[in-house]
Amino acid sequence: MDFELDEESRAFADSVRRFARDKLAEGALRRAHESAYPWDVARMLAAQGLLGIPFAEADGGMGGTLLQAVIAIQEVALVCPRSADIVQAGNFGPIRTFVEYATPGQKKRFLPDLLAGKTLMSLGMTEPDAGSAVTDLQTRAEMEGTVYVVNGSKIFSTHSPEANLFLIYVRYGPGVGGIGSVLVERGTPGFTIGKPSSFMSGEQWAELHFEGCRIPAENVLLGPGGFKKQISGFNVERLGNASRSLALGRYAFNLAREHALVRKQFGRPLCEFQGLQWKFAAVASADKGLPAAYETAAAKLACNTAGWEAANEALQVMGGTGYSRDTLVEYCVRRTRGWMIAGGSLEMLKNRIAESIFDRRFDQRPG
Ligand SMILES: Cc1cc2nc3c(=O)[nH]c(=O)nc-3n(C[C@H](O)[C@H](O)[C@H](O)COP(=O)(O)OP(=O)(O)OC[C@H]3O[C@@H](n4cnc5c(N)ncnc54)[C@H](O)[C@@H]3O)c2cc1C
Repeated sequence: MDFELDEESRAFADSVRRFARDKLAEGALRRAHESAYPWDVARMLAAQGLLGIPFAEADGGMGGTLLQAVIAIQEVALVCPRSADIVQAGNFGPIRTFVEYATPGQKKRFLPDLLAGKTLMSLGMTEPDAGSAVTDLQTRAEMEGTVYVVNGSKIFSTHSPEANLFLIYVRYGPGVGGIGSVLVERGTPGFTIGKPSSFMSGEQWAELHFEGCRIPAENVLLGPGGFKKQISGFNVERLGNASRSLALGRYAFNLAREHALVRKQFGRPLCEFQGLQWKFAAVASADKGLPAAYETAAAKLACNTAGWEAANEALQVMGGTGYSRDTLVEYCVRRTRGWMIAGGSLEMLKNRIAESIFDRRFDQRPG
């Protein structure tokens, strides 16, 4: 497969790069250390046409491709890592699953504000007892007359302190076939959002509690049997996560390279010490380990690992400066580390890759 960009894609990348350098370079460090969602940037990215890139124009999107969305998230991340979260939320996150399966009425209600960068959607999949084993989820949605009554709890949902719309994986009945999803709006009676907690990356999440939360039938996104479809949508989320890993690794690498050229110790620039040259050699080969495989799992595994190794080695090269919050290198290390867990941990991805190598399923459950 040829990974070279064609002329049109290169022109698109150039235009996003110019925009990012012009509008996002200033304030990149500040944004990384603020836990609040950068709403001002969200509106700017919306105006620039960088939200809804691969969505149909009829849905308010740009009618572009997933590759263009990947190009956009990488170009933005290479200038302002935190702003890339907005590109993720507007193209790769739960919004992607929503656009794929929502009814025209649901799209009309929620998409305009999401694509204008005025609102956010959060994904409620993980539960206290259902992490990697997500199909063990217990949150129930039971039909009562014309409404569904939701009971259960979710944890770790990114953007939950600020989102106004939640895509919640629920159980309508037993087994994997009983799983689907509903849309719950902030403020719905019976839905409470706990106190914000922070991931190591600085991103915030809050516990979500549903106690007799009644939602209308028109808020069902996918009924029983929807699990496979939800996970297909989630695969796109993984690509956004993989793209940011790689871009943040490259960001840190570039900064460390500049540092090693300029910073002198023992009367010589750091780049003249062989121990540090080895680091750049190792990282450079990891950086070329772009998704050589077709499957999302392989791409995510490769990018998460390369991104984190590059950022971590860049921090080491920059010594105390890299470890301090005065550059974005330590931030890149924290963010890339989180993506080794989020969106399918490295171990779970390897399990999946092993299944395709051996062309058989390895059930992770006892017996
Ligand atoms: C930054 C970040 C953002 C997140 N955002 C969201 C979000 O928006 N919405 C949401 O719903 N969730 C979100 N999550 C939660 C994420 O999906 C879970 O953390 C992830 O699925 C792992 O679940 P767990 O944390 O319960 O770990 P566990 O499942 O308890 O796993 C613990 C360790 O055991 C390993 N392990 C488990 N089972 C196996 C196995 N069969 N074989 C080998 N190793 C195994 C795992 O790889 C891991 O290393 C986020 C997490 C992070 C870190």
